[in-house]
Amino acid sequence: PKETFNDVGGMDGVKKEIGLKIIMPFKQPELYKAYGKKAGGGILLYGPPGCGKTWIARATAGEIDARFVNVDMWIGNSEKNLATIFRSARSSAPCVLFFDEIDALGANRSHMKHTGGRHLINQFLSELDGSGADNDGILVMGATNAPWHLDPAFRRPGRFDRIIFVPPPDEEGRKRILDLLLRDKPLDDVDTRSIAKVTDGFSGADLKGLVDTCIEEKLSEAFTTGKPAPITTKD
Ligand code: ATP
Repeated sequence: PKETFNDVGGMDGVKKEIGLKIIMPFKQPELYKAYGKKAGGGILLYGPPGCGKTWIARATAGEIDARFVNVDMWIGNSEKNLATIFRSARSSAPCVLFFDEIDALGANRSHMKHTGGRHLINQFLSELDGSGADNDGILVMGATNAPWHLDPAFRRPGRFDRIIFVPPPDEEGRKRILDLLLRDKPLDDVDTRSIAKVTDGFSGADLKGLVDTCIEEKLSEAFTTGKPAPITTKD
């Protein structure tokens, strides 16, 4: 991906944590090797929907010039496909493998009816452990809205032992997300600070929806007037 942390608004705490736990080990592996630690491993992101878990995982790959593979859980829910996904990631390391809604795979035993079953979870864990293979340079990121549904075996040390909460954006974060969403658009002095103030509770995805709707209305206006007018705070 060409996106980096500069394309992610807010999330300073999350960026700092990912920087320390993922980016530095990739950029200065010798420091980590000195302590017998390898780059890579698993990170679990959790938090409400639309707050940028996928977005920051992409940007993480962009930061370390790694490939980014967004694994669709429908495809990931097959033993053969899981093996292929990990094999291809190993052959093109550095690589960030992103599993959205990972709880769909790792549902608790009591929810097992909804999943491919226990053997699929075990296979995923053994791929994550790198049993019989070299997982050097493979970073597995999982996202979930409901970490409590995740099988405890996922959270053992060496697996998803690092769990990062991705919170909804605060006012400063919303302002920065709005600035990002509006860059390169024709603007007439849009006061993103005041919009951030009145959008408490909006996720990043909600803000994107807000900007998209606004642009659609500007477009339909432009169709009648024949010329594009810049976006204002009132829009
Ligand atoms: P879900 O749990 O529903 O999968 P998510 O947490 O993975 O949601 P994303 O898909 O990353 O959410 O976010 C949706 C969209 O909102 C992104 O594609 C991006 O355009 C925008 N967005 C969300 N958060 C941010 C942010 N912090 N900075 C910039 N854009 C953001």
